[in-house]
Amino acid sequence: MNKTSSQDIINEDKLLSILENNQDPHSDAFEAVLKKAQLKKGLSLEETAILLGTSDQILLEKLFKTARQIKNDIYGERLVLFAPFYISDYCVNDCDYCAFHVRNKIIRKKLNQQEIREQVTILENMGHKRLLLEFGEHPAENPIDYVVESIKTIYNTKTDSGEIRRVNVNIAATSVEDYRKLKEVGIGTYQLFQETYHRETYKNVHHGPKADYNRQLLAHDRAFTAGLDDLGIGALFGLYDYKFEVLALLAHAQYLDKTYGVGPHTISVPRIQPANTVDLDLPHEASESDLLKIIAILRLAVPYTGMILSTRESEATRKQAFELGISQASAGSVTTTGGYSDKEDHNATTGQFSTADHRSLDKVILGILNQGLLPSFCTACYRKGRTGEAFMDIAKPGEIHNLCRPNGILTFKEYLEDFASAETKLKGELIIKKFLRQIPNENIKNETTAKLAHISKGKRDLYF
Ligand code: SAM
Ligand code: SF4
Repeated sequence: MNKTSSQDIINEDKLLSILENNQDPHSDAFEAVLKKAQLKKGLSLEETAILLGTSDQILLEKLFKTARQIKNDIYGERLVLFAPFYISDYCVNDCDYCAFHVRNKIIRKKLNQQEIREQVTILENMGHKRLLLEFGEHPAENPIDYVVESIKTIYNTKTDSGEIRRVNVNIAATSVEDYRKLKEVGIGTYQLFQETYHRETYKNVHHGPKADYNRQLLAHDRAFTAGLDDLGIGALFGLYDYKFEVLALLAHAQYLDKTYGVGPHTISVPRIQPANTVDLDLPHEASESDLLKIIAILRLAVPYTGMILSTRESEATRKQAFELGISQASAGSVTTTGGYSDKEDHNATTGQFSTADHRSLDKVILGILNQGLLPSFCTACYRKGRTGEAFMDIAKPGEIHNLCRPNGILTFKEYLEDFASAETKLKGELIIKKFLRQIPNENIKNETTAKLAHISKGKRDLYF
């Protein structure tokens, strides 16, 4: 039985007063927080509020510089890529920001297992190895058994050189029994966003079962109880003041860490985008520069938590965000159910929301290479059982470079062999050479070199 009350996790008055007390901080206080952040042990709510409290450009530049450094120290050059996969847009909720709200008269679609196989084949032929499944909430149309069957179909759909090795899931808040079924079928991360941690705003924008703030907030506790220990949290920026949301995300992360010995595996930072039939007043809209500040501050506050950015953001914003703290990004995304077979982009009309980065996976990869970063399709940790606390044990002492770098190199090499355009292949091989030299452990470096040779000869799925 879960005895936690949502007030134990999000104490609104406390968060608001911390923000109030730390507005326009003195530069000495601000710089003291940056110094503390360099220890890479995370920040308190008060320290984070000091960073949130400034709009001074000179201080913000210092913040960005520290974030870049921490991102580089911990995650290095790698950027893990995935695609969202919309399986059903049936939904009983009426969320004011989402095109799948129940009042929208669109023809609803839910994929059958054959259609799932077809879509997955397309995604695999692009080169994707990781998917994030998206479902509307609809107990009759999208029961947990349908979700589980769909996941099994995805794992069993293989092409000559393609397979999905990690399925992350974004379904509505549900019961421990349902989460147990997700655990049994072998999902990667279970993601669920609080959307807004501000109770009154939450109540105003949600109607239907999702309107229950506590059901949403305590879902991660139920998932933990069911044995899921790679969990993702997030806020939909634009619904309420971004400073409050960042502090609340941190409070939620600290609560999970304290209660279960492991914080969230990832934090997502979506911003509201235009969506079909959605006409929402956004007095708290977060700008692109606000988003970059949010990402930099979270990088300092929870340095070992992965951070995810989607194609809601433009190429230019994503480029900056990748350096400031993002560790996972979607690419080539479609937000329409079954939309990967379409040549045209219908995200704005039949999708959940419009996207801003319309490039193909290969073009996104080319952009990442031009930034000097390493695209990765790694799924090793979850398959080796390095989840939850076990993952944090390797992440915290900095071992990540002896694992993530080689695994990033090996999975990217597969992409270059099987899917890359000529230009990407040329640039990609150079990046692999560069980062192979930088693997700290000599034995692992030699093993990686040997595994690369095997991949060139046709071997696949080699990892540490
Ligand atoms: N239906 C489930 C739920 O609501 O939890 C699964 C997730 S939903 C398919 C994925 C996420 O899309 C939502 O949690 C929300 O944050 C985001 N979203 C919805 N409408 C959006 C919009 N107009 N712009 C950007 N993101 C949006
Ligand atoms: Fe349904 Fe999720 Fe969209 Fe809300 S955000 S309307 S629950 S799909």
